[in-house]
Amino acid sequence: MSSAVSPDLSPELRNRFAKFRGHDGCPSRSVSLLLSQSPSGAASAEQASSARLTELFDRKDYVAALKAVAARPDETLSLYVRIPFCAGRCLYCGCNTTITHDSARLDRYLDALDQEMSMVAERIGATRDVLQVQLAGGTPNYLNDAQLTRLTEMMERHFRILPDTDQSIECDPRRTSAGQLELLHALGFRRITFGVQDLDPVVQRAIGRLQSPDLIRDVYWLAREIGFESIGLELIYGLPQQTDQTFGRTLDSVLELSPDRVTCFGYARNTSAGSHQHAIDVHQLPSERLRQALFEQAVQTFSGSGYSWIGLDTFALDTDELSLAQDEKRLHRNCIGYTANPSDHMLGFGSGAIGEVNSNCVQNDCSLEDWEAMLERGEFPVIRGYHVSADERRRRDAIAHMICNLELPAALAAGCLDDEYARLASYAADGLVEVGATGLKITSSGRHLLRSLCSEHAAFFNWDHARWDSARTN
Ligand code: SF4
Repeated sequence: MSSAVSPDLSPELRNRFAKFRGHDGCPSRSVSLLLSQSPSGAASAEQASSARLTELFDRKDYVAALKAVAARPDETLSLYVRIPFCAGRCLYCGCNTTITHDSARLDRYLDALDQEMSMVAERIGATRDVLQVQLAGGTPNYLNDAQLTRLTEMMERHFRILPDTDQSIECDPRRTSAGQLELLHALGFRRITFGVQDLDPVVQRAIGRLQSPDLIRDVYWLAREIGFESIGLELIYGLPQQTDQTFGRTLDSVLELSPDRVTCFGYARNTSAGSHQHAIDVHQLPSERLRQALFEQAVQTFSGSGYSWIGLDTFALDTDELSLAQDEKRLHRNCIGYTANPSDHMLGFGSGAIGEVNSNCVQNDCSLEDWEAMLERGEFPVIRGYHVSADERRRRDAIAHMICNLELPAALAAGCLDDEYARLASYAADGLVEVGATGLKITSSGRHLLRSLCSEHAAFFNWDHARWDSARTN
């Protein structure tokens, strides 16, 4: 990697990167290597995820996993429900979703979801608490009011959803209304996340997704007035036509709203995700250096304004439970994302849904038709999975602990990450970690390179990442 600063950076951003440089003005060799790795990891994460899952794991293994869960009725559950439909295709989208304008198609999907939940509940029983529910997309709020009500009743019929179950939904702000938000709140959803991506009109045209800042503000304040306890906004950096000036304006506008959480994904053009991505003009994409700078800009904006930087790509108000959990070194990461309250098992429902059941990572068939056909035949629609061995689980948990809590206790690494621990310790010379008697701590400089520090282990932690698809936002 060249040590020359990219000319597309503003002087302010050039100064920010200067902190990673040595006395001669160049990054140290180890830091150069880290910086040369992708800051987003979006595409590689998906590839690693797919690589880990194998079709050797099939529905028989899934049934065995459910049986094991049934034998331990005190263990807790979370539900991850995919609604893989959208009204139109955003050009950057890496999500497995179907474009339809046929509401009856969504009704048929709910029929199949009902069947899938019924089959799973029959195997494991409906007596255990559900800690978390996440409706993910596609566009979950593309369901109409009757369908949203039906889906909620369906989940309550098959599982024990409690008044304090943490229920969240991803929403496309272009598809919601005051009536829909009131309904979602009445149905028990307390967390809501809106896809913002970027507020600049030139960037929005380049990604084929137009939504005015006024719309975002209106929807945001409606959700606040209705009483959602947590409102998250999702941004994407690395989009065509983004500059540090345009992205800075987006960040400032988002900051004005004071959302509880902001997630900042990296866009990586991936034409294998669909022909629509060919419509993204490669010549309009920011350089790799600028991509890094845009994310750094988000870090600087939120970190200096009452937010904690959570894990790799999330910012949460200092008073948010994620921030408190990170401070107290008890933050976790599961299929849904970062959480202070992890469940023992994650059940995935819907075409392409992922789950983690009895130490097995599983994924449903991504083909809508095949997923439905299997359910019609009374078969579990799991198409592939991966059994996580006890050793792998230890490795993954140790890495997840480091990502979440910015430390790697020696006791967690012993016997499963010995070489990695030594490698990480060597970064103390660059000021990226501090080595103490009980383990490693990531320094504030190392914090900026955490993704790269962990990237060699992508296969061990990314498959339980909530963001299964790159840039999968609504
Ligand atoms: S980005 Fe979201 S709303 Fe756009 S097509 Fe993909 S899933 Fe649908």
